[in-house]
Amino acid sequence: MKRTLIEETASLIGEKVKICGFVKSLRSHGSVLFFDVRDFSGVLQTVIVSENEDFKVAKKIRPEWTIEVIGKVKEKPEKMKNKDIKTGSVEVEIEKLKVLSESLTPPFSLSSDGYEVNEETRMRYRYLDLRRKRMKENMIMRHKLILYCRNFLDKNGFTEIETPILTKSTPEGARDFLVPSRLHQGKFYALPQSPQQYKQLLITGGFEKYFQIARCFRDEDMRADRQAEFTQIDIEMAFVEKEEDVLEIIEEMVISAVENLFPEKTIKEKPFPRITYDEAVKRWKTDRPDLRENKKNENELAFAFVVDFPMFEKNEEGKWNAMHHPFTRPSEEDIKEIKKYPEKIKGMQYDLVLNGNEIAGGSIRSHKKDILEAVFQILGHKKEEIREKFGHLLHAFSYGTPPHGGIAFGFERFLMVLQGEKNIREVIAFPKTGDGQEIMMGTPSSDIGEDQLYSLGIKIIKEKNEKQ
Ligand code: ASP
Repeated sequence: MKRTLIEETASLIGEKVKICGFVKSLRSHGSVLFFDVRDFSGVLQTVIVSENEDFKVAKKIRPEWTIEVIGKVKEKPEKMKNKDIKTGSVEVEIEKLKVLSESLTPPFSLSSDGYEVNEETRMRYRYLDLRRKRMKENMIMRHKLILYCRNFLDKNGFTEIETPILTKSTPEGARDFLVPSRLHQGKFYALPQSPQQYKQLLITGGFEKYFQIARCFRDEDMRADRQAEFTQIDIEMAFVEKEEDVLEIIEEMVISAVENLFPEKTIKEKPFPRITYDEAVKRWKTDRPDLRENKKNENELAFAFVVDFPMFEKNEEGKWNAMHHPFTRPSEEDIKEIKKYPEKIKGMQYDLVLNGNEIAGGSIRSHKKDILEAVFQILGHKKEEIREKFGHLLHAFSYGTPPHGGIAFGFERFLMVLQGEKNIREVIAFPKTGDGQEIMMGTPSSDIGEDQLYSLGIKIIKEKNEKQ
């Protein structure tokens, strides 16, 4: 007999069905037992009476066991109907009952939203935590939003291209995760902090509109809105000259995604306001202002583009850093001026902020070799170092690279706000804890054989490394 999904049972009154799912809860009225069964599509009440030959089996069943039920769908008496759920007006009278899989008693309740449960326990039993309604909805909306953006970009002529994970360091301002090479002992790959250089090389390769749902890795301390491993919707476009060329399409994607997938939300202002960096800092004392009327209203979405950032900022050692990254095009194309007054130069850079969160950032790029070299020099790189680290890009830019620009969404931050969550861990299936561990699998792990280390040419220094 073919399995019926629980959500379909509401329209199958009088028919015999087979349903499979988890036991959400059970109630005993002596000679009658009720099981609320949950599958991916919904929840349904099932009932078995003591005359049934499977009643003995039924008495052993506990919450979270998976069972298979065969029985007739019946309409419940009017006053027993639960109007809150789709299947609330029906129940299944069990004829046959089979246990598919038993479960230990879960370490926490799965019917609450889970915020009350200790974080470490939730992470250790993440596979159970994911069974709760809130987590399921977060994962489904994650899927839907990615799919929506992917389809939107596809329809607008973008090509999705994957770029390497084993790669070379690219400056996004964090530390790299390194992967030792066995074939080239003493050498290391870096995991990408972003596909920045590759996407610019794809533009050089003639792909005029690129995107990727890209996994990025940054070895930095974690916060509520930051994970070491996260997902970007990464976008790059050729033949764009000004910021607006990128902002317009991004704005269209964001508005249509929100209106289609989150109809309960209201967007405060359309088109999104464009605010200069100077204005934001002056008026709101931050470059990611929260422009909501009522900060307690979760359904209000206040987007804004922050533009005209300074190209450079001084770090604690008094050296120049790129405010976004060195590939951003300075608004000034005169190299002498750039070098003379770095503090005065604006970058053709933009951020998208949402309710006080920076959810995307990007820029128009320097596609001319000499400008890019000048920027690297201001950042303190010696000529030789530039050649060694970025020679490939400068060389590629000698072959007719079109003017280009792009942006990347911190996908989880965007979703976190839309889902009304306070931590991006809530929208990632298997996140790391605050100190960078994935507790359930036990990563990072020291469970590496001597042989494996030897073949990589690596020795572990046991004393604590002070320079961390
Ligand atoms: N690679 C940049 C980042 O990760 C985004 C961009 O400039 O497109 O922030």
